[in-house]
Amino acid sequence: MSPHVLILGGTTEARELAAALAGRPGFRVTTSLAGRVSRPGAVAGEVRIGGFGGVEGLADWLRAEHVDALVDATHPFARAITANAAQAAAATGVPSVVLRRPGWRPGPQDRWYPVDSLAEAADLLPSLGRRVFLTTGRVELAAFAHLTDLHFVVRSVELPEPPMPPRTEVLLARGPFTPADETALLQEHCIDVLVTKDSGGAATSAKLTAARELALPVVVVRRPPLPEGVTAVFDVAGVREWLALD
Ligand code: NAP
Repeated sequence: MSPHVLILGGTTEARELAAALAGRPGFRVTTSLAGRVSRPGAVAGEVRIGGFGGVEGLADWLRAEHVDALVDATHPFARAITANAAQAAAATGVPSVVLRRPGWRPGPQDRWYPVDSLAEAADLLPSLGRRVFLTTGRVELAAFAHLTDLHFVVRSVELPEPPMPPRTEVLLARGPFTPADETALLQEHCIDVLVTKDSGGAATSAKLTAARELALPVVVVRRPPLPEGVTAVFDVAGVREWLALD
């Protein structure tokens, strides 16, 4: 029977990996999406949508669908599914790997303020600016809701979920973005501080270039650690190597 690879997706890399594997004869490739966005982009191979129902549900799915290899290519901040995947793989004996794109690195001209959480970012903000460009996603805006004196420009793919700060302007957009457009956006909205997760990758890094050009401070939320003992690779080539395809 063809080997069945399950990709936990929701990222550019997951889509790239699905395209690379689904094109190979003799492979069955399924990408799993959480179902958070209403119009996900096209994905090669089979697609399933929605939560599995925790560790047990994922382990059941791995068994029922005879999965031979599990690739966790979720976003670096999708902590719960990454923990569940590590546990379900261990429980079922399915070989697994985590595909994590590298984090961003500050250059000498960057004014970065690394923090460990959105709450810590919120604590820092009043000392850094009044008009905030917030790109940490549409959930968890509650961490900033008490900052009633600050003006927030929130950019997300879908409408953000309340509670959120009272002075919030929402921009709906999906990357990739260019440095020129990001610089124009920061200027147009008179932004004086940027908040981002350390998502890594090229699709959303232009805002960092723009902030550097305008000498703006950037509050960068550090990534949560990977579960202990997992094997991690940095790119699609690393997964291909792990699958012994090259
Ligand atoms: P999360 O907090 O780690 O996961 C919450 C629950 O959502 C999981 O326990 C699981 O439900 C379900 N889930 C998450 N990813 C799934 C997947 N690929 N397939 C099936 N179920 C999934 O995740 P999140 O931070 O909300 O992110 C959700 C999705 O959006 C992820 O796939 C991630 O790659 C993508 N994403 C996240 C971010 C971010 O900043 N967090 C940014 C861009 C894209 P069950 O326990 O019921 O299985």
